[in-house]
Amino acid sequence: MTDQTVGFFDLSTVLSAARPQLDAAWGRVLAHGQFVGGPEIAEFETAFAEFCSAPACVGVGNGTDAIELALLGLGVAPGTEVIVPTNTFVATPAAVSNIGAIPRFVDVDEATLLLTPEIAEAAITERTSAIIAVHLFGQPCDMSGLSDVARDHGLILMEDAAQAHGAEFDGQRIGTHSAAATFSFYPGKNLGALGDGGAVVTKDPVLADRVRSLSAHGASEDDRHTHVAIGRNSRLDTLQAALLQVRLGTLETENAHRRLVRTWYEELLPSTAPLVTQAPGRLSAHHQIVAQVEDRGALKQRLQDRGVSTGIHYPTPCHLQPSFAHLPPAELPVAERAASRILSLPLWSHIERSQVEYVCEQIRSLAPAGVG
Ligand SMILES: *Cc1c(COP(=O)(O)O)cnc(C)c1O
Repeated sequence: MTDQTVGFFDLSTVLSAARPQLDAAWGRVLAHGQFVGGPEIAEFETAFAEFCSAPACVGVGNGTDAIELALLGLGVAPGTEVIVPTNTFVATPAAVSNIGAIPRFVDVDEATLLLTPEIAEAAITERTSAIIAVHLFGQPCDMSGLSDVARDHGLILMEDAAQAHGAEFDGQRIGTHSAAATFSFYPGKNLGALGDGGAVVTKDPVLADRVRSLSAHGASEDDRHTHVAIGRNSRLDTLQAALLQVRLGTLETENAHRRLVRTWYEELLPSTAPLVTQAPGRLSAHHQIVAQVEDRGALKQRLQDRGVSTGIHYPTPCHLQPSFAHLPPAELPVAERAASRILSLPLWSHIERSQVEYVCEQIRSLAPAGVG
């Protein structure tokens, strides 16, 4: 029997704090009735661009479409190779495949579990067109090193920032460190809608226009009945934009709480459950706080028995997924080993210290010293 339970992620406490503002936003959209293309979309796009210190933001249907639309807008050609770290959500390489390009899976740094400039550079071939930096768990990749590699080899560099709203590299928020940064507003992300949503953030207004057009049936800027490209329908809903505007108002506070929670975990976890390393010069958005443990399956189950829910992001590296079995086999040992050891700990923007203490007490008693 457990006397306490700690869920993995508690959206209801996050949302109840903002309930009156969310109700009001919903009421406004219901009243004006412009459910697609309403004024709240431009308002949110402007606010989120400003949050990222970027000139432009285009709201789209979800974070996966954001990656596809950015790749298309940047002109990544079918048949070319796009370098992608294997330990990401499957949407990153799926977006590459869906535009007709080929994901080139690469391994990651042992300490940060992130793509590095060295790893990216070693994977470049004459067929490479682009690199996607994935800011996994909210920690930015080395964007200055990756920019150098991309520039030296004439490659497109973009970022999958689905987990990195408000993260910083070199004191600068994610959004302007490459040709485009794509975001997801899936409810569980740091900035979550109450449904699906996504955005492409860029400093290039021409790219922003192209992405906007591609996301709206390839419509021309000046005449929505002239279609200058074969696009798709992937728009951010007015309602989601209105709700996101409310959620954006507390993102900095919520991210600050996540940072505090990371220090609690650092203080309270046993040495048998070390956290994924934070590299200097980077401010993580702490989308996930991830420990690495021996015998992860058993520990996860025993934690569950004691009322503590945990996650795994992700149990199978993308290069080992059946959906990518048609690609040449690769051995990516760092990511493969990490996949069997990583354990995402309970985290949300209102988790309390007593809850983190309970989680760490259980881990300390279940993963005794000497096993790590
Ligand atoms: C969530 C996520 C996506 C996909 O976003 P959706 O909005 O769910 O389509 C892509 N990449 C990463 C790294 C993610 O975490």
